[in-house]
Amino acid sequence: MDRDNILLTPGPLTTTLRTKLAMLKDWGSWDADFNALTARVRRGLLDVLHAQDSHVVVPLQGSGTFSVEAAVATVVPRDGHLLVLDNGAYCKRMGKLAALMGRRTTVLPLPEHLPVDPAVLEQQLRADPSITHVGLIHCETGTGIVNPLAAVSEICQRLGRGLIVDAMSSFAALPIDARTLQFDALIAASGKCLEGVPGMGFVFLRRAILDGCAGRSHSLAMDLHDQHRYMERTGQWRFTPPTHVVAALACALDQYEEEGGQPARLARYTANFDTLMAGMAALGFRPFLAPEHLSPIIVTFHAPADARYDFQAFYAGAKAHGFMLYPGKLTEVETFRVGCIGAIGPKEMQQAVDAVAHTLASMGLQRAD
Ligand SMILES: *Cc1c(COP(=O)(O)O)cnc(C)c1O
Repeated sequence: MDRDNILLTPGPLTTTLRTKLAMLKDWGSWDADFNALTARVRRGLLDVLHAQDSHVVVPLQGSGTFSVEAAVATVVPRDGHLLVLDNGAYCKRMGKLAALMGRRTTVLPLPEHLPVDPAVLEQQLRADPSITHVGLIHCETGTGIVNPLAAVSEICQRLGRGLIVDAMSSFAALPIDARTLQFDALIAASGKCLEGVPGMGFVFLRRAILDGCAGRSHSLAMDLHDQHRYMERTGQWRFTPPTHVVAALACALDQYEEEGGQPARLARYTANFDTLMAGMAALGFRPFLAPEHLSPIIVTFHAPADARYDFQAFYAGAKAHGFMLYPGKLTEVETFRVGCIGAIGPKEMQQAVDAVAHTLASMGLQRAD
């Protein structure tokens, strides 16, 4: 096989050859050409959310979590109180990083097989006026469930609380429109549904809160207000930028627009998802979530109950056919995950299903159930 293994993971994910080739150039971080590239990327990112009037976008070096941490540090005052609605692993991570940096944090445990319930949020906010901000994971990548962003945003706006959205795995694939949805911060990263390479995140900050964010961060490197101020003044990143990652993201944004933007990307991921679900059902695999809660981002499947099944062997078998699966992130039940995102189409997804079928057979199993 002369192609790279296909990554059926929620980031890094498979990128196009054109995106990979965009990295074959060295850029000077102080140079006008690179500053223009950064400016182009920032404009393109704002366009994805129609957020030119309402928000600024601040890029930050590092993986997506660095940007979640920076958003909390920059937006939540040191004497603020963050409520995290927890229905999965990434929710727990946001709660943990907020508590570690010393912000008062309440993590509300909710069932992980259901979207968070807006009525529970409203009740919590009414009961505790000290809560200044709400943290929501839009698509909880640990299971693939999509949380009700519009309803949560409406409640936060009505009750006068700030909202921080981790939209890492949904941004550019699921519709989010800043003209109709209020949020203080929304976080995503280069190596997810925009199909760039990993290495930088970015945070949309509501213009109306920007000035109030000065001096809130306990950390220099995580201070998005300072990063933004410096970038506005100089056109440059404060510290060494991930130049090749920025170049790849600029190229990936071009391809996103050429493909037809968010609706086209969602349509392709939905075709991948449909192919995956039909093929896996035929092999006897059951998804962890009820059908109405599944998303075309990533699907969690129950592992076969048969004693001959072993994830390491299953993973190795699929990899030998050129497909990288993802382990489950649930503690109670044995699962594995398959991502529908990345620069792949239904043809590659059908090949992935065929690889799973061969791998099952090689373990002595005809079906998963
Ligand atoms: C990928 C992802 C992150 C960031 O993870 P990193 O490993 O730091 O890139 C955060 N939240 C969600 C929901 C994600 O899918």
